[in-house]
Amino acid sequence: MFSTFKPRKYNFVTCSIDRQNNEDSNSTFSLKGKVECPKCKKKAKVVLGKTVEHLLTLKAKAKLSCFDGFNYCKTPSCEVVYFNERKILTQKDMHVVVGAKEGAKPSILCYCFEWSKEKIAKEIEENGTSLALTDIKHKMHTIGCQCEILNPSGVCCLGDVSKAIKELKNSSDSILT
Ligand SMILES: [Zn+2]
Repeated sequence: MFSTFKPRKYNFVTCSIDRQNNEDSNSTFSLKGKVECPKCKKKAKVVLGKTVEHLLTLKAKAKLSCFDGFNYCKTPSCEVVYFNERKILTQKDMHVVVGAKEGAKPSILCYCFEWSKEKIAKEIEENGTSLALTDIKHKMHTIGCQCEILNPSGVCCLGDVSKAIKELKNSSDSILT
């Protein structure tokens, strides 16, 4: 007896095959890893399935059969957080605040050791500098970080933190002078 019903265990297999087929038929998705966000058209990076799985709300997760093949849009003014060929996920689908997005409160930069733009700005205001990078680097070696499942970008925050420190220092200089 034949049936079109596919057992659940094939979900992951179907998932990767679907992705390849779609990449062939859809020019927005190339195999070279240069993927454009459907909203802001800026380049986005692929994230691991476990990153997406860990950060989505239960409600958002219930609608997905597979967490692989999503891309992360870091554009501050863009509402898209994750997207693939079929689906767009935004802040409302996440159970953490996506600090990189405009209007995020708190504006979290380091999810492993809880450094936000607000905390860094306060340090700079009080001491003229921030110990965020020293603290994060120290804890990375002693405690260890979990960026892959805690940070929406799925990657290390050090680049974002040092960029934010520079920006905040510049803006506090311009306020003082
Ligand atoms: Zn975008």
